[in-house]
This record gives sequence, C-alpha cells and structure tokens, in this order.
Amino acid sequence: MSVFRKNIVPLIVITAVVAAVLTYFYRPEYFDFIIQPSARSIYERSLEKTPGQLDQWKKLTTLAKQDSVNINESFSENIITSTRSPFSAGYMVDIAQGESLLATVKTDTINSSWILEAYSLNGDLLQTAVATDSLMTILIRERESSTIRLVVQSFLELTDTTLLKIYKQPILEFPLAGKGNDAIQSFWGVARDGGRRSHEGNDIFADRGHPVVAAADGRISSVRDRGLGGKQIWLRDELTASSHYYAHLDSQLVTSGQRVSRGDTIGLVGNTGNARTTPPHLHFGLYRTGGAVDPKPYIWKIPIPADSEILPIDSRVIGSGSGANLRNQPDANGGLLRSIQNDRLTILGNAKDWYHLRTADSLAGFAHKSVIKLIE
Ligand SMILES: [Zn+2]
Repeated sequence: MSVFRKNIVPLIVITAVVAAVLTYFYRPEYFDFIIQPSARSIYERSLEKTPGQLDQWKKLTTLAKQDSVNINESFSENIITSTRSPFSAGYMVDIAQGESLLATVKTDTINSSWILEAYSLNGDLLQTAVATDSLMTILIRERESSTIRLVVQSFLELTDTTLLKIYKQPILEFPLAGKGNDAIQSFWGVARDGGRRSHEGNDIFADRGHPVVAAADGRISSVRDRGLGGKQIWLRDELTASSHYYAHLDSQLVTSGQRVSRGDTIGLVGNTGNARTTPPHLHFGLYRTGGAVDPKPYIWKIPIPADSEILPIDSRVIGSGSGANLRNQPDANGGLLRSIQNDRLTILGNAKDWYHLRTADSLAGFAHKSVIKLIE
C-alpha cells in the first residue's frame, strides 16, 4: 500500500508531461507513412488554418462532381486556372468491355498543384493520380467501372495553363506485330458455313510467317493441331480473366505451360485448319466466363489525342447570338444543355475550337468559339 502511494504521484506527473510534450509536437503528417493520405487530404490539411479557403475549395469540388459533360474516346483540352477563378471541372466517360481509360494532366514535377481523380458513378473514389515525369496519370480498366467521373481541380492561388488529355486505349496488345486496325478484315458475328454458325472472333491478315505476339502476359494453356483452328495456341490471361485463342498458325513457337510476356512472339501466321483455302491470317478469339466475346474493343487501336491550339482567353465572356448554345460535348452534335445568349460566362479552357465554360449559376458545358465574345 505505501509502496503504491509513494510511486503513483511521480508516475502521474511523468505521464502528464510526456502526454503534453507529444501533444505539443504532434503533427498529423508524422503518420502519413502509415496512413498514406491522398493528395486531396494533404492539400485540405494545408487549408485548415484558413477556413474560408477550405470552404471555397470544397464548394469547387462539389461543382466538379455535379458536372455532366461527356467525353468520347479521345479528348484534349488546354485548361486555365487563376487566383480569381480556380479550375474545377468534372468529365463523364463510358468505357466498354475491353477498353481502358487514360487521363493525364501535365504538371511541374517539383510542385504538382493539380488534383486528378477518378470516381465511380455512385461516388466511390477509384484512383488518384500521382505525378511522375511531369505528368499525372490515371489508368482505369473496364472491370473497375463502366462509367467514370473524372475530377480535375487546381490548387487555389495557382495561375497556370496546362494540358489535360482523356482517351481510351485497348487493354490488349495488337496480336500481330507492327499491324493495326486495317489488318482486321473479318469481324465478330459474320455468318459462317452458310449461316449455320457465326464468326466468334476477328480475322487479322498478314503474310505467311508474320510474327503473332502474346496480347497479354500469361501462361500457355494449350498448343494443339486439330479441327477448324488447325495449328492453334491458347493463352490464359489473368488481366482480363480470359483465354486467348490464336488459330490457323503456320508454326507454334511456344509449349504448353510456358509463361509469356505481352509482345513475345508465340507463333507465325499461316492458313492451317479450315483456312487452308483462304489467304494466311490469324483468327483471334477471346473467351471469358459465359463464352466467346468480341475481341475487337480489346485490340482496336485508338490514337492519342493531339494537343489543342490555345484560344484567346479572357476571364469574363458572354454568349453572343441566337446560336449561342451550351452543349455537353465539344461538338455540334453534342447534347444541348441550354441557350447561353447574353449569359456571363467563365472560361475553364478550350478543346480545339470549343470553349469549356461555366455559367454564373455553375452549369458547365461547351460552346463554339464563334458564339463567345469578350466583355470590355
Ligand atoms: Zn476467323
């Protein structure tokens, strides 16, 4: 009892002092190496001392998450930010089975002052871009979500013009080395054997002996010579949870069980099996749970969008003329959002000849440069 009494007081004092010292010196970033907070969390923490700015930032995020502009397969925009109107916008993109989506923002590697994020439609954060080699990049594969909402936001107090690109790419490598879309000459679903069956793949033409490459990393599950496919190779691909079927080969250069890397030559084009009366070609098939799927979107090459020319920028503009319409795409066929005749507008950026604009009541969309006038 007395030993306990003698020790309890110093123990309390020491504990209190240690706690006070830890509290005084504690910084949330000490635990970042465990928690690995997102770029957004780190930036929001830096705004905590200025609640007005934090509030402004969060309102801009909410705006971007409500935007409903639509991006097709290939898009590039010069985006502009200034202290007076910090950039914040959202972009909706659909991705089909077999496609992946890339979004990039050019940045200064030393000081990346942009946030680029991908969300699912129900608001789950799928990815945050991290800057490497002066580019922030997001890569989303079709299995993660079918519609993506990209959010792009600049840090407050930043004045900058940068380049945003949003585009799709096929998930797989094109299965004939050095060839492209125009080598595919027979598509999915075409009638075969007088309509008794339908074509469950793509026929890709090249000279006999042309290298056939693995369209993904994987394991060779079978190397056979029989039936309609003749000399054929089956490859198990974990990335797309599918089996690739390479048929009518002249030679097979791999063995069953072998691991191969994307782009490795696995065989040579021929016309074995039921292709013996046709010119040499590769029949490329793709099988997932439930059966064959059209391989075309998995391999169809989509060009990387070219940079847009920068249009004249003024922070305050109006829509001019009866044709001043705000659309949900940078295209005359884009869905009409509403007329912006005589509306005061803020320029967010430009995609080719289309301005990306925000109205005074926060609606974002695109309008052709011919209907946008500067205000003196
Ligand atoms: Zn075929």
